[in-house]
Amino acid sequence: MRLVVLGGGESGVGTAILGKEKGYDVFVSDFGKIKENYKKVLTDNGIAWEDEKHTEDLILNADVVMKSPGIPEKAPIVKKLAEKGIPVISEIEFAAPFTEAITIGITGSNGKTTTTMLVYHLLKSAGLNVALGGNIGKSFAWQVAENKFDSYVLELSSFQLDGIINYKPHIAIITNISPDHLDRYEYNYQNYIDSKFRITMNQTEEDYLIYDADDEAIAEWFKTNTTKAQLIPFSLTKTFSQGAHITNNTMEVKINHEEFIMETEYIALEGKHNMKNAMAATSVAKLMQIRNATIRESLSNFQGVEHRLEKVLKIQNVQYINDSKATNVNATFFALDSMNVPTVWIVGGVDKGNDYNELMSLVREKVKAIICLGVDNRKIIDVFGNVVDIMVEVTNMNDAVRMAQRLTEKGDAVLLSPACASFDLFENYEDRGEQFKQAVRNL
Ligand code: ADP
Repeated sequence: MRLVVLGGGESGVGTAILGKEKGYDVFVSDFGKIKENYKKVLTDNGIAWEDEKHTEDLILNADVVMKSPGIPEKAPIVKKLAEKGIPVISEIEFAAPFTEAITIGITGSNGKTTTTMLVYHLLKSAGLNVALGGNIGKSFAWQVAENKFDSYVLELSSFQLDGIINYKPHIAIITNISPDHLDRYEYNYQNYIDSKFRITMNQTEEDYLIYDADDEAIAEWFKTNTTKAQLIPFSLTKTFSQGAHITNNTMEVKINHEEFIMETEYIALEGKHNMKNAMAATSVAKLMQIRNATIRESLSNFQGVEHRLEKVLKIQNVQYINDSKATNVNATFFALDSMNVPTVWIVGGVDKGNDYNELMSLVREKVKAIICLGVDNRKIIDVFGNVVDIMVEVTNMNDAVRMAQRLTEKGDAVLLSPACASFDLFENYEDRGEQFKQAVRNL
């Protein structure tokens, strides 16, 4: 069996290693440059590879192709494979049959990483033999090749889900759905929604789907579609006989006639969106029969994930918050929603078709000044120009942070929550967040 792996990054190299171990004739091809450390791994494992080209003769003879999530369907080589009827699958699809472990698959537009890390923290703290994978850290396939875990918590992007055929998680979470990455879905929101719901398409009556019952797109989907999985909804407004909700600042999770109750003030994460993430993660913990005392302890000591509403420093009684990972309007909505003091908001970057009007009432209520940090800030200025008295444009992070400091007084906050991708002025969102934190430390 010939396995061709397109893309020599973390998931590609992991798949190649697993494929080799399972006796496939493996070839890795990357149209870009493969990183030196990955080249070495491939060579050391006797795996053939090429980079900066796709040699068709070596690719179109595959029995199966694993495509890395970053490669779009419209790439010429992917189209040729489709024309020849060669199956093109994702890493998760390839690796899952080689492990007996149960998987918990987490998808959604926002909150995947936070929820994945929290589920992992809950299960790991309870002593389970569990690993983390998908979009985070070491690839799933690589771990399947090298370790023996009982369960995996996997962050699954829609691109990974597009490449599944038979894969099913035992427990699936859809955190929420809002427009994102539409460039990869022919600018058709429905295609993107359908892609997220692939997470449940192979689930059976023994499996579970945990989802946000307050989410419009999810509610719409359920009107015309079904799943065999048992449903575990969570909500900030509704209550369920089986599911999770928050009323009067108390989180309640009811599953299989058991109940978990915790006052939200003891949950370390903050903000409504994080209460949703906490409900989703706690539902997993209950399904995995973790003891209530252990869940309670883990929820109270989980410190969140870098670049997601991360508290950096308090200087002269002004709190600086790094939410660089907010690359769409929905994420920024929840960041602004969680602010309870006058806020100087740093926003801007590469806009993926944002509708800023969704933020209007929060901005009116909470934002005292806007600092635009992008190459093209016209849209932001047009929308908020009449709403916020002070609007400033800057072109680098140091200026943004120094300007923010000048505009604050005791008790205020400075929030970097850009609602945009970072590629105009930064390498990526991590770089943007690091530069913010460094600039704050330099004040
Ligand atoms: P993802 O992995 O899906 O991008 P992250 O956990 O990295 O999600 O969070 C991305 C951004 O979305 C951050 O700005 C974070 O504060 C915000 N966020 C986290 N959880 C949610 C949620 N449930 N709903 C909306 N926004 C969220």
